Amino acid sequence: MNEQKYCRNCGSAKPTGATSCANCGATSKPKRPWFGPKRIGYGIRPQTWQGWLIVAVFVAVVTGIALWLGR
Ligand SMILES: [Zn+2]
Repeated sequence: MNEQKYCRNCGSAKPTGATSCANCGATSKPKRPWFGPKRIGYGIRPQTWQGWLIVAVFVAVVTGIALWLGR
């Protein structure tokens, strides 16, 4: 992985792995992805509450559709 990062503040290119912008000095925290690879098995699993929220909403929608179809 060697993707170019850009400063959110000024938009200038940042060196890979840099935590602060050399141009304007703005710092950016490394963002934790909502979903990450499973340690065991295949697929992905939620890593943050946002990820679990998406799963919860998805399950609720699927359950709602199933109940609606089963009337
Ligand atoms: Zn900047």
